[in-house]
Amino acid sequence: MSYDAIIIGGSYAGLSAGLQLARARRRVLVVDAGARRNRFASHSHGFLGQDGRPPEEIAADGRAELMDYPNVTWTVGEATAADAEGDGFRVTLGSGEVEQGRRLILAGGVRDVLPPVDGLAERWGRSVFHCPYCHGYELDLGRIGVLAVSPMSMHHAMMLPDWGSTTLFTNGAFVPDAEQLEQLARRGVVVEPDAVKSIGGERADINLADGRCVALDGLFVLPRTHINSPLAEQLGCALNDGPMGRYLQVTETQETSVPGVFACGDAALVAGSVALAVGTGARAGAGAHQSLIFR
Ligand SMILES: Cc1cc2nc3c(=O)[nH]c(=O)nc-3n(C[C@H](O)[C@H](O)[C@H](O)COP(=O)(O)OP(=O)(O)OC[C@H]3O[C@@H](n4cnc5c(N)ncnc54)[C@H](O)[C@@H]3O)c2cc1C
Repeated sequence: MSYDAIIIGGSYAGLSAGLQLARARRRVLVVDAGARRNRFASHSHGFLGQDGRPPEEIAADGRAELMDYPNVTWTVGEATAADAEGDGFRVTLGSGEVEQGRRLILAGGVRDVLPPVDGLAERWGRSVFHCPYCHGYELDLGRIGVLAVSPMSMHHAMMLPDWGSTTLFTNGAFVPDAEQLEQLARRGVVVEPDAVKSIGGERADINLADGRCVALDGLFVLPRTHINSPLAEQLGCALNDGPMGRYLQVTETQETSVPGVFACGDAALVAGSVALAVGTGARAGAGAHQSLIFR
């Protein structure tokens, strides 16, 4: 069977794209491997109407709403390859099955690669975060650390005093110049130049190379992000360079540089969130639908 649209990724962005197409009575296939980016966090914040809910509940509600439409099919698994075929696309699944769609929507999100510091990965989403808007408020104006990974961490360190007393651990990742030191001092940020050996304790205490331990309520770090699936590159979609990683170049209707291939959510954003995934997903769904009519 050929679908009007195949959506790769059935989380916030893909679900939102699917909803627009489903409501236009189009035949939609969603392929989802089930590894949302925020699966490490117990609560999701900052998405209007859903603030503070477990992220899996928000996704499950979205999926239930979408699957109420009889013209939507859901497949659990991974899309491993995609290529153009005639005036549409062919998608190969991990199971070996091949599906055909007139439009493709890439909504597979990104994966985070953390710096290799002992104790960091197991605290990811619990007391180590990247997004202050998502998890800063819950730290109750407590003791916050920023673990530097590059000069971009300066931006992080300048923001975080709005959420608590902030220490920037430069950890050899960059050396603030005199002007930056002055800016940090104006924001009340303490700069700790000693190397970080590991993260320990109940929350995210920093063990320094010289033997000191700095107790923290939460730690912020900028991961490197990588687009989850190889499909965009296989299809030849153009990418932009962002400060944390590459992301898909899209037009105002979320169409990539390959006509008929749309993208939404974190994979097509310089920095994502649930709200932006849902917003760009809605735009991709409508964009893909209208492209079926007007060209
Ligand atoms: C620790 C942490 C906490 C966060 N907290 C918040 C928060 O509080 N508030 C907030 O707004 N944002 C938060 N975020 C960001 C949020 O998780 C993302 O912005 C959001 O999940 C992006 O949605 P998405 O649909 O683009 O991608 P995702 O939610 O990552 O979903 C992508 C889906 O596509 C699937 N997929 C990928 N490739 C394939 C393939 N080839 N075939 C089939 N399926 C595939 C994946 O398995 C996954 O199910 C947090 C992120 C992290 C890491």
